[in-house]
Amino acid sequence: MRRLQGIPVSGGSRIGRAVHHEAVPFAATSRRSVAPDEVASELERLSTAQREADRGLVEAQKALVVDPKVGSIFEVHRMLLEAVTPEIADAVRAGTSAEHAVETVLRRHANRLAQLADPVFAERRQDVLDVERRLLRALAGSPAPRVPEGDGRSPVVVVAEDLTPSETAALAGGRVVGLVLEHGGPTSHTAIIAKALGFPCVVGVRGVVGAVAPGTEVWVDGAAGVVVVDPDSVSRAEAERRGVAYEAHERALLEESHLPAETLDGHAVTLLANIEFPLEVGAAAERGAAGIGLFRTEFLFDPARPVPDEEEHLAAYRAALERVRPGRLTIRTFDFGADKATPGGATDERNPALGVRSLRWCFAHPDTFRAQLRALLRVAAEGDVRIMLPMVASLDDVRRARAMLAEASASLLREGVPHRPDPPVGAMIEVPAAAVIADVLAAEVDFFSIGTNDLIQYALALDRTNEHVAPLFRPSHPSVLRLITQTVRAAAGRGIPVTMCGEMGGEAVYTVLLLGMGLRELSLTPAVIPRVRRLIRGLTLARARAIAARSLRFATADEVDTYLHRALAGVLAPVRPGG
Ligand code: PEP
Ligand code: MG
Repeated sequence: MRRLQGIPVSGGSRIGRAVHHEAVPFAATSRRSVAPDEVASELERLSTAQREADRGLVEAQKALVVDPKVGSIFEVHRMLLEAVTPEIADAVRAGTSAEHAVETVLRRHANRLAQLADPVFAERRQDVLDVERRLLRALAGSPAPRVPEGDGRSPVVVVAEDLTPSETAALAGGRVVGLVLEHGGPTSHTAIIAKALGFPCVVGVRGVVGAVAPGTEVWVDGAAGVVVVDPDSVSRAEAERRGVAYEAHERALLEESHLPAETLDGHAVTLLANIEFPLEVGAAAERGAAGIGLFRTEFLFDPARPVPDEEEHLAAYRAALERVRPGRLTIRTFDFGADKATPGGATDERNPALGVRSLRWCFAHPDTFRAQLRALLRVAAEGDVRIMLPMVASLDDVRRARAMLAEASASLLREGVPHRPDPPVGAMIEVPAAAVIADVLAAEVDFFSIGTNDLIQYALALDRTNEHVAPLFRPSHPSVLRLITQTVRAAAGRGIPVTMCGEMGGEAVYTVLLLGMGLRELSLTPAVIPRVRRLIRGLTLARARAIAARSLRFATADEVDTYLHRALAGVLAPVRPGG
């Protein structure tokens, strides 16, 4: 028996026989160039392959309606395919074979993505390579990837160095009960698909391909991120117990999605969702989200394409609004910079997290910002749309953004374009300076949303992307708790709503603490909404208040955490599988 540790991607506990998944070979041509009189027929081959690849993507999208987020991935692949085809055709016109042109163009895009500092975009490289493989397969007339079957009888755990999103999607509905990869991060599309398919997945397991011979029994414990090779009878029994408990737990949580998020003493909490793409609204609604509390619009920007224009913004916002109605749609303006990809490529700033990011970047690129603001005002006329400003650090930031909104409204009015001139405008509280002057800001915005991912980074001087300081990233640090308290009080003083959209809101012990501190709206990753709902329903607000009052008196994060885990042991049990 051997135990390997990796990064947990999706929960569940299953045992199966290992099957190595290797890239499907395709008969690529060795021809690199074509003669001028062959260009027309080569272009015809390319166009047929493009149509074939697109048809395959539409089919994959239809076959995977289990989770709208998965469908959106294939939508992105289709867009990518459409975007790169003219470039490939140009290369063919210049005398390159279709296969070689596909490889050259897509490898160039993939390499560019791999160089980006933001791991999310770097992981998108797999999507580009996936499209490359699909096109090459279509050109060669090769069949679609085969799902590994193992011995055809036992459940299968797929073990591979890495898989593309399409290869992962193809594992659906077969004998596959688990996926283990040497590479990859928890935010890759491959990981997202594995999550949606509902089997346990662990990534970043070093040396796993060499350590596990095909046919060996493997236990994948997705929640713990552990892979046990050749488990003994004790481990097998434990795997079975955890698996049964996990599945029953997930089913039960999802079945509660229609229940109100209300404490035992009758206080309602609004649960909203954080999304990156319009299609994710479906996953949020399925989990009973009352609306969208954070739409991260910077993900509409694809480094391989130009920045979205006004109509593209409008189409994305409308697509989200149609799905979220009558719920609210809180759209955050571009939050480029720092660890996120920025149009024009990474800047040469020494400290990008403290540089021209977010609103500062928008002010420095008024035309790009104006297009977004005009689209926001237009879509605001069609439903409950709220505009959220990221990284507000001063009242000047709010005033400047509001002035640009007023200008955008005036221009739309002049052009006779229907829009709402005065939608609610809120500030994210994610810079300590903003929390400290929250009373001042509250007078000039319509709502607050606390972004603890950045608030903690800036308050504690810890780069949120640096694994070396990750253990110090503590939401329970007394200075963070004081900044939140101050913000909540300032909002109450002015009678404006305050939401929390940072990851802290979805961590069970802190959810209770935040409710006790006065928060009544949480915007969460869709996957954690059912768990948070159950937690709230098993708690009185009176208890949460008492717990918060006590927590705020401690001097260190350790003291707060120790107390919270002890005080909440009974409350946390029902939200843990097997608890
Ligand atoms: C935050 O900073 O808490 C937040 C929600 O925004 P992002 O994670 O997109 O920076
Ligand atoms: Mg942030």
